Amino acid sequence: MSEALNVADIFGEDVFNDTVMQERLPKKVYKDLKRTIEEGKELDLATADVIAHEMKEWAIEKGATHYTHWFQPLTGVTAEKHDSFISAPLESGKVLMSFSGKELIKGEPDASSFPSGGLRATFEARGYTAWDCTSPAFVRHDAAGATLCIPTAFCSYTGEALDQKTPLLRSMEAINEQALRLIRLFGNTTSLKVTPSVGPEQEYFLVDAKKFQERKDLIYTGRTLFGAMPPKGQELDDHYFGTIRQRIAGFMKDVNMELWKVGVTAKTQHNEVAPAQHELAPIYAKANVAVDHNHLVMQTLKRVACQHGMKCLLHEKPFAGVNGSGKHNNWSLITDDGKNLLEPGKTPHENIQFLLVLTCILKAVDEHADLLRESAADPGNDHRLGANEAPPAIISVFLGEQLEDVIEQLVVTGEATHSIKGGKLETGVRTLPDLAKDATDRNRTSPFAFTGNKFEFRMVGSRDSVAGPNVVINTIVAEAFKEACDVLESSDDFDMAVHDLIKKYAYEHQRIIFNGNGYSDEWVEEAGRRGLPNIRSMVEAIPALTTEKTIKMFEEFKVFTRAELESRAEIKFENYSKAINIEARTMIDMASKQIIPAVIKYTKTLADTVISVKEAGADASVQADLLSEVSSLLTRTKKALEALIVVTDQASSMEEGADQARFYHSDAVPAMEALRAPVDELEMIVDKEAWPMPSYGDLIFEV
Ligand code: ADP
Ligand code: MG
Repeated sequence: MSEALNVADIFGEDVFNDTVMQERLPKKVYKDLKRTIEEGKELDLATADVIAHEMKEWAIEKGATHYTHWFQPLTGVTAEKHDSFISAPLESGKVLMSFSGKELIKGEPDASSFPSGGLRATFEARGYTAWDCTSPAFVRHDAAGATLCIPTAFCSYTGEALDQKTPLLRSMEAINEQALRLIRLFGNTTSLKVTPSVGPEQEYFLVDAKKFQERKDLIYTGRTLFGAMPPKGQELDDHYFGTIRQRIAGFMKDVNMELWKVGVTAKTQHNEVAPAQHELAPIYAKANVAVDHNHLVMQTLKRVACQHGMKCLLHEKPFAGVNGSGKHNNWSLITDDGKNLLEPGKTPHENIQFLLVLTCILKAVDEHADLLRESAADPGNDHRLGANEAPPAIISVFLGEQLEDVIEQLVVTGEATHSIKGGKLETGVRTLPDLAKDATDRNRTSPFAFTGNKFEFRMVGSRDSVAGPNVVINTIVAEAFKEACDVLESSDDFDMAVHDLIKKYAYEHQRIIFNGNGYSDEWVEEAGRRGLPNIRSMVEAIPALTTEKTIKMFEEFKVFTRAELESRAEIKFENYSKAINIEARTMIDMASKQIIPAVIKYTKTLADTVISVKEAGADASVQADLLSEVSSLLTRTKKALEALIVVTDQASSMEEGADQARFYHSDAVPAMEALRAPVDELEMIVDKEAWPMPSYGDLIFEV
């Protein structure tokens, strides 16, 4: 297959990457830019002009006519405004293609309609995009032609973050600073930078585009709001890792090609648990690049699906009763010279560092479990977390048997060390090199699992940006590192101090460790006894953003200000209300205009049948029974519909904010469920020909 052989050539061909920069930029300019990328040194305008010019020339060779500052406002999706390269016409009537350093570095989109949670009202109406030169620019080819995309951060005039990326970059600086302190304490004098690395595994569904078009719920909300289970679900587990069907295989091939061209390391693809569900994982990258790439993955999945006559569903729960979609966020800390701080390591010396890192993470996760939970909250994820499927809404950490055992020993022998003399911990630590890296037990139910040399945060929703969760992980771990370094730097006896600290952290935070089945009811009870929070819904999760504990931490590490956090909480409440409002109104629309009319027609057919069968002198009792069953469900449907209309009107007339969101959650959501129930029962008994939309079976088994 010639195409397969070309991957190495194709990879990154549309990216303004290091090789291209080295080839095209004058030496001094290249060096200056590298310094900006690696050390955050400011770029002067003259240098930026040269870079912009070369970038433009390169992009034009790739066919680009426009450029865009590509950014991630708080809508959850990326945004962009396109400008063409053309400048004002010359006297000759011709135009030049131009792109200045200023245009590269800073953009000024008309930002007034992006959510800001009151920030712009209080500060300044303008929003600015600023070039994130640590994530490479690329040329995207689509129906609009070719566009030079410049990854940017989006801030207000006075520097308040209005996007996902700004706090992410800030949190990366925070963890870098504290992690460097930590490794210096262990004698590392050579690493210059520590970067969080992220590999997000993306789950998604594919459905046929024609059938999708026949479902208003999918069109407006991305999930089905009605739908009875097909006779066959996922109970046979025959889809997971099953052979990939030809239509899907063709789709995946194109997705990979597109992603490779823009430098996304699409690596693993397979079928997932549910029918029509699949997964794509790239090779991990620096957190900000991984976030950008994940957006590219989601956009590419959607675009290529359309080209193949399909629709890609990124919603967390497109089908009730069928496995939902998440995004496992694999996270580790890696130095610029390639050392992973989460690698258990070979020598006891490094293992102590590993144990400190590990126990700091336990502490961080235990102390900020509510915040971590919040980072995965989104209206769609409410159907996964804490519902009938994993992961549970309770944060716990899975370490695997061996590591858990080490921690237990630390807790126990740590207590005894004083009487046995100082060598005990070392013995405990010497057992570490034996740690099997691939602990055989792969617990799939844990929300925060140690998997060899990384942590895997599994709560994140499939549609969400992974920026938020990584901002939280980076910052809470930075805080734990800082506290540890404060103690260790000021101690006279480092070995003793680090020993005590590891023991203390392991002891104080062992309650967060859980290796059992996270889906079980016993765990819910046990977690309650341990005092671990069980936050079941988005509206209950959001307040974690604005507790004094959270604000203090984010302000200390300059990741968020109080105002930014308050604005984000406000936006989240509003987003929740809007999402539920759209869902409720879509249900009302479908029930009133499609389902009830179809069922009425069906009852007429049944009634006519009853009459004519009776007239013909035969027994019409089956038809009559069915008619009365359908009629009574129809009555229930109509009542539930009316109730939903009342609740939705009431909710949408409330003032925007937390109370409104809580009302949507407490009243609108149950009213939606009450409408769905009789409709799903109807779908089971009404003639398929009469049902006004494709069924679950049609959608997920016939792609
Ligand atoms: P799984 O066992 O969950 O299938 P994989 O080994 O396939 O895990 O990796 C899942 C994701 O984790 C991939 O995106 C991979 O690149 C990423 N990953 C692997 N090692 C690391 C690491 N050290 N830090 C962050 N992500 C990593
Ligand atoms: Mg995984």
